Amino acid sequence: MKTFSLGATAGALGCLAKLNPLFAQDNTAATKPAKNSAPLKITKVRAILTAPQNIRLLVVKVETSEPGLYGLGCGTFQQRPLPVKTAVDEYLDPFCRGRDADNIEDIWQTAYTSSYWRNGPVLNNALSGLDQALWDIKGKRAGLPVYQLLGGKCRFAVDCYSHASGRDLQQLEDSVARIQGQGFRHIRIQVGAYGSPQLSKDPHFKEAGFGLPSDSHMDPRPYLKITPKAFEHVRNKFGDEIELLHDIHERIEPMDAINLCKEVEKYRPFFMEDPFSPEQIGYFKQLRQQCATPLAMGELFNSPHEWVGLISERLIDFIRVHISQVGGLSVARKIATLAEWFQVRSAWHGPGDVSPVGHAANAHLDLAIPNFGIQEAVRFTQATQDVFPGCPAMKNGYMHVNEAPGWGVDLNEELAKKFPYPADPGYWRPVRRKDGTSIRP
Ligand code: MG
Repeated sequence: MKTFSLGATAGALGCLAKLNPLFAQDNTAATKPAKNSAPLKITKVRAILTAPQNIRLLVVKVETSEPGLYGLGCGTFQQRPLPVKTAVDEYLDPFCRGRDADNIEDIWQTAYTSSYWRNGPVLNNALSGLDQALWDIKGKRAGLPVYQLLGGKCRFAVDCYSHASGRDLQQLEDSVARIQGQGFRHIRIQVGAYGSPQLSKDPHFKEAGFGLPSDSHMDPRPYLKITPKAFEHVRNKFGDEIELLHDIHERIEPMDAINLCKEVEKYRPFFMEDPFSPEQIGYFKQLRQQCATPLAMGELFNSPHEWVGLISERLIDFIRVHISQVGGLSVARKIATLAEWFQVRSAWHGPGDVSPVGHAANAHLDLAIPNFGIQEAVRFTQATQDVFPGCPAMKNGYMHVNEAPGWGVDLNEELAKKFPYPADPGYWRPVRRKDGTSIRP
């Protein structure tokens, strides 16, 4: 076989140049090594706490050796923000100072193992704040929104679902009509909240003085009874034009979850979310054998051991991790790529306890991946928009990001200080069965 050396290629180009002047242009600029400028150094990494919507947000700010150039990343862990702040300020800051801000993957890999033990929610959120801030810096340096760095748009905007709920079917119907009126085509329907504490009666443990009076109570039976009726009611009232989603929120027994997914299959749900707790993902094989109801899973995941098998064995249809809980954009884009080959779509967790920087990260990734599924809609109060100029915006059920370089979201630190965390520590409150037994979400 004939091979061509670079010298031979240059000779061939020289001959072509004699024949066609177009080939005679100076190509040396394209082949010259890039100017060897000094690396952009990380000078400081710190956590900023604020709660403009009374939700404990944590944003990581990474400052650099270029005056005025910084990045922002979301490390919000609403139930344990202060340990994340410690991990950022006391550990990631000294670890990162002096490192080259351009080497996002290397910094992620080395910071990940810098604690030796890893894959927990506190350290993953700290890592996410750092990681997303470095992507923000990369975008600002390139003069491009992050979705452009990820390959550009696969769609004009991010299609979202919104939440409808009520204590009974009539309230639910009214709520669905309101959400549909706002332009949403995908609507999550819940009666009596997750697992229905609102539907439960006679909390015997309270009469017996077990636990605290503020502890919540749920009875799975009313929930299991009304949820298929909710699907039937909404399908009858609104027809087949809207997509219906539902969050089981893990609280019921695995066989009850399997039966529920079978029962609602005929109403064509868009997905049923989190049927099992993360400790019980082994049940997905049984569930998959029983029905073809589309399944979303993963909002409580922290470790690759939780999502790799579910995706590669085609046991779920939507991967629904909380991006800061898995360690940031660098991890989430790898999850998306893995999922693409198994026709698993994205449905990143997007609740109120994600900062606007985190919502922007969700949306930028949503725009750029071919296997985008759906995004959870978000509503920012005016106070949040003032603290975070450049928040993603909702229009007709779509989320839009702006075209500013990086995430396009800034942080007014002075204003952020005016919204301190609420006084209570923000526990995920206990939920108990009738006899007081604790229920795991
Ligand atoms: Mg959920």
